[in-house]
Amino acid sequence: MSLNHVRPWRNIYRRTSRQIMVGNVPVGGDAPISVQTMTNTLTTDVKATIAQVQAAAEAGADIVRVSVPDEASSKALRQIVPEVSVPIVADIHFHYRRGIEAAEAGAACLRINPGNIGDEKRVREVIAAARDHGCSIRIGVNAGSLEKHLLEKYGEPCPDAMVESGLDHIRILQDNDFHEFKISCKASDVFMAAAAYQQLAEATDAPIHLGITEAGGLVSGTIKSAIGLGNLLWMGIGDTIRVSLSADPVEEVKVGYEILKSLGLRHRGVNIISCPSCARQGFDVIKTVEILEKRLEHIKTPMSLSIIGCVVNGPGEALMTDVGFTGGGAGSGMVYLAGRQSHKMSNDRMIDHIVEEVEKKAAELEAAEPDLQVSKPAAE
Ligand code: SF4
Repeated sequence: MSLNHVRPWRNIYRRTSRQIMVGNVPVGGDAPISVQTMTNTLTTDVKATIAQVQAAAEAGADIVRVSVPDEASSKALRQIVPEVSVPIVADIHFHYRRGIEAAEAGAACLRINPGNIGDEKRVREVIAAARDHGCSIRIGVNAGSLEKHLLEKYGEPCPDAMVESGLDHIRILQDNDFHEFKISCKASDVFMAAAAYQQLAEATDAPIHLGITEAGGLVSGTIKSAIGLGNLLWMGIGDTIRVSLSADPVEEVKVGYEILKSLGLRHRGVNIISCPSCARQGFDVIKTVEILEKRLEHIKTPMSLSIIGCVVNGPGEALMTDVGFTGGGAGSGMVYLAGRQSHKMSNDRMIDHIVEEVEKKAAELEAAEPDLQVSKPAAE
């Protein structure tokens, strides 16, 4: 049961958008905010690309994008699409023909870049292919590749230019009676991206794909994305997200989920609440959390676990978690179940024991509510 009526400071009022389908994944409307990533293998290396898509899907990706730079890559899609468990978005730049080929090859969605796809006649051909093959389209505006006439008009990339580019392409799609589209307005500058997305959210009811492009490495890119995407999501803007990191796509998925989990917008797996540790710790908190994060990766059921070094904050945090462990003294700590003190456990056995308790709790939660693994947005 949602407790947001007694915790109004947790409410997020999501912008109302139309719903479209990317393969079998709904995007927009009341659908859960989906998490996307993109492969960085050569698309022509079919085996490696399938493996990377599946690793991302296993980590929780709902949709995966694959680059289609040449005809050999669009051909490779024919082999990739049937072997993966998530819808594939074909990333198209410069060559509109790749879009047509990708639609024929089974892509669920075509990402086109208004800045480089070419004139309206070419876009119309891509729209026709998408319609014929049941694909949706993402209009993917990027501050780094805006149309020449917009750069001349505005002098430099800016939110107004990005939004104008996006709305021009929305008009082309709508004039051709094509409505299965979503839109993104990405920039590597957090301020520019956030301003563009806010304007866009006012100007259209199309589902919005959020992203801070070229955000950077794992740590700096995560922070930039959490600030940019976090603020927009908090405002209720965003129906699907991609965190762009110079890192493994699996890391992008994990970060995307953590952003959504932090805002209570989606829940997946074990949310570990742990203290930073200090001289009072009754066991090695940092090492324990590091091991538990790895050993609990297989749990998909949303649940919480508190791992706290001592009684200063341990019992209080355990009150609000499904499973808890609080360091005590003399080589042992206290296990909490469903917020209640349960039993003592020695430090040398606690990791195996916590894994068992979490697995037990996950099985119990799943039995009570079998569709729990399909996480739903907390705020409607
Ligand atoms: S909970 Fe205890 S061990 Fe952890 S940081 Fe606070 S005082 Fe230190």
